[in-house]
Amino acid sequence: TPVEPCDFTVFGGTGDLALRKLLPALYLRDRDGQLPDGFRIVGVSRAEADDEGYRVMVEAALVEHVPSDELDATVVRRLLGRLHHVTLDVEDVADWHRLHERLKDGAASDDVIRVFYLAVAPALFGPICDHLDQFGLATERSRVVLEKPVGTDLATARAVNEAVGRVFDESHIFRIDHYLGKESVQNLLVTRFANTFLEPLWNSHWVDHVQITVSESLGVGERGSYYDRSGALRDMVQNHLLQLLCLVAMEPPTYVDRETVRDEKLKVLQALRPMTPDLVDRDTVAGQYAAGLCDGAAAPSYADEVGHTSDTETFVAIKTEVQNWRWAGVPFYLRTGKRMSERLSEIVVVFKEPPHPMFPHSEGTSEANRLHIRVQPDEGMRLHMTAKEPGPGGIRLRPVSLDLSYATAFGQRSPDAYERLLMDVVRGNTTLFMRRDEVEAAWTWVAPILERWSEPTHRPRRYPAGTHGPFAANTLLERDGRSWQETG
Ligand code: NAD
Repeated sequence: TPVEPCDFTVFGGTGDLALRKLLPALYLRDRDGQLPDGFRIVGVSRAEADDEGYRVMVEAALVEHVPSDELDATVVRRLLGRLHHVTLDVEDVADWHRLHERLKDGAASDDVIRVFYLAVAPALFGPICDHLDQFGLATERSRVVLEKPVGTDLATARAVNEAVGRVFDESHIFRIDHYLGKESVQNLLVTRFANTFLEPLWNSHWVDHVQITVSESLGVGERGSYYDRSGALRDMVQNHLLQLLCLVAMEPPTYVDRETVRDEKLKVLQALRPMTPDLVDRDTVAGQYAAGLCDGAAAPSYADEVGHTSDTETFVAIKTEVQNWRWAGVPFYLRTGKRMSERLSEIVVVFKEPPHPMFPHSEGTSEANRLHIRVQPDEGMRLHMTAKEPGPGGIRLRPVSLDLSYATAFGQRSPDAYERLLMDVVRGNTTLFMRRDEVEAAWTWVAPILERWSEPTHRPRRYPAGTHGPFAANTLLERDGRSWQETG
């Protein structure tokens, strides 16, 4: 179904995020007929480009970032026709009349929906919103999208939220976490709540523990200077991993809408066992990659990539618990890192062993049931169980799996997370975006870890590139008699 006409303004319109993710996503929505006549895209940046120059730049980006079998010359031309560029330094008030004129001129209607997508440094979020207000650009039908990071700690997150909240109502603020737009992540809610067989088992009676892994095989690359000030805890755990944890652990909302889902996620964040300095020392591991072999090639150390020695962590493992009736006593192990052995985002729910061993004298092996929810790559689900190996002899047990691969089951490509999320913004649906209280609750929970790790004696443990992270991350589970699930 096409969305309403809209003026979709991207601050940072010539940046990496816009060219690599946002414009390809808008192209694919246009290709599928979701962008109506009167849907304009206005790139705002400091680049000295006119509309034509911007179209050339975006066309090259589409050719580079959209799979060639998805490219259609007619749709490319149509999308390019929607594009405009406004050269503007957002901090220079004298430039802003250009955007004002562009948005007033040729809009589909006086009350057209306006989206302001802030794909720029978070320090600019406040000034941009102030100027949108000052120039009368933020209307009743406007929405603002905030890219991560929303702050670098609780205080800065609050400051950003205050500044944006002075101009936009919370219902018009879209804090994006693209993990929530992934098909498999949304399917986790459907699997849990549109079926009956899992929910009775989804608690401390039957679940032994939960693992959430988001590993990348790439290093920091071009993002070194940003990353060195951030680190894996801020860049990945505070947002993506905690959001995944919320979706696994939340209670069923009465119905699915923007507030009820987010209310339930907030309750999970508030129920996380608070970290103390002792718990940080015992239940968290920080690591940083050293040189090694990754994806079959020699990979430099983190220090070599950023050009200096550094105590920034590129790996985090954490053991935590959701302290409520459903989950009391069930460990949640979180792990994320760069330059690990593979690119993998996966949630694994490990169930308890059967209460009574019925086949003590059988041959073969049995394992505890596990549900793997694969977020990327190859979105899907796999349920590991034990079966009898066929044969006339005695009973021989063998681990087998039930597989749901999205690509095979539905025979169509899974849309990129941004495709779904950008259309939700235009429709005004905030369900899959983080509410202010969620973001601040997440920062509140990570604050003691940040504080403890900022002490001068704290050093991340080195791990060779291309491995599963520092050895201490294994110990975190082994001391509980468990181990990381390395393959789906
Ligand atoms: P980038 O450096 O590639 O591009 C920055 C863009 O902002 C450019 O278009 C530049 O002209 C514009 N810009 C910078 N200062 C400006 C100013 N004063 N006035 C007007 N325009 C200005 O950055 P990027 O990688 O696209 O990232 C943008 C933001 O999104 C950052 O905050 C980043 O942390 C966040 N982010 C990026 C990614 C990614 O994959 N690149 C992912 C998640 C979040």
